[in-house]
Amino acid sequence: MMEAIVFDGIERGLSLRKVPMPEIRSDHDVIVKVAYCGVCGTDLHAIQGEFPVRDKDLILGHEVSGIVHAVGEKVRAVKVGDPVGVNPNKGCGGLCRGCSRGNPHLCPTEGINGTLGLWKDGGWAQFVAVPSSQVYLLPHPLPLNIGFLAETLSCIYHGKEMLGMIDPDARILILGGGIVGLLWAALFKHQGHMDITLSEASPHRRSNAQKSGFVSKVLDPAQLDEEEDGFDVIVDCCGVAKAVEKGIEVANKGATIIIFAAAPKTEVVQVPSFVMFWKELRMFGTLTNPFTYGKAVGLLHSMWLNPNLGLSAEKLGIKEYGLKDYCKCLGDLKGGVITKGVFAVSSKQEE
Ligand SMILES: [Zn+2]
Ligand SMILES: [Zn+2]
Repeated sequence: MMEAIVFDGIERGLSLRKVPMPEIRSDHDVIVKVAYCGVCGTDLHAIQGEFPVRDKDLILGHEVSGIVHAVGEKVRAVKVGDPVGVNPNKGCGGLCRGCSRGNPHLCPTEGINGTLGLWKDGGWAQFVAVPSSQVYLLPHPLPLNIGFLAETLSCIYHGKEMLGMIDPDARILILGGGIVGLLWAALFKHQGHMDITLSEASPHRRSNAQKSGFVSKVLDPAQLDEEEDGFDVIVDCCGVAKAVEKGIEVANKGATIIIFAAAPKTEVVQVPSFVMFWKELRMFGTLTNPFTYGKAVGLLHSMWLNPNLGLSAEKLGIKEYGLKDYCKCLGDLKGGVITKGVFAVSSKQEE
């Protein structure tokens, strides 16, 4: 048996329980001993009934790093004892319109409709079973307490790929200073951009963003009106319609606006058609991480080694909790006391 936080979607309650250990059911399965598993905004939405997930005895958690505990007979890519990250998403194997055209994230049965930790048992537990195609070796010396961020970064990198080439002197505006906003900023800085502004309503998160050193300027959203120059790239990392509307207002001609945050369904952005036309704005949404998890592992590793970033759990405002402290963790996250919560399940490598 193992410990896990189990979600009951009908009662909308969480409980820490002893549940059976996951088993190797196919020759390609891997059992990962969870070291770290993040708590994502999506998890909060799911718990509040604002995001579709399996409603029967679900173990949440889709941001997993850990150590390979057991492997099926045909697994070659990883072996017992390896440090790994887990990609929670996969396609259906090319059977549907999305997957057959290279878009597994748009799959009607898998993709976001089959995500580990949303539809299959995930990582808020001591162990998790995953097909080997979703398990990625974490390179040395990337630590496991940073490695779990490969999932978030893989989603960001998908957005970055959709954004494409931008001018080296582009003025970048990040809306929201949670972990996602900070990681977007860190990525832009890592790629050589110098003009990165972050706007955030919470003073705690503003001071955190300031301390991170990833951004050139941190503003209260009300201060955006005082900016003399507009912005060329605007990334919504807060899911607040009013913030996106402000972004459209301060967008330069030819700017791109990326809707990255999973906003509550009730948020509606008012887009003035004339402004879209007159400024020739481009605006798009981005969903999960098609073919970017492996790239994100490499990217995270190079960001980790970049002395100009000095990436650390502390800079990113990540706080660790035990599984038993899940109420405190979710409360701190909802209250904006922390930027990111992560369950530190077993941080020691196996002997
Ligand atoms: Zn997530
Ligand atoms: Zn499919």
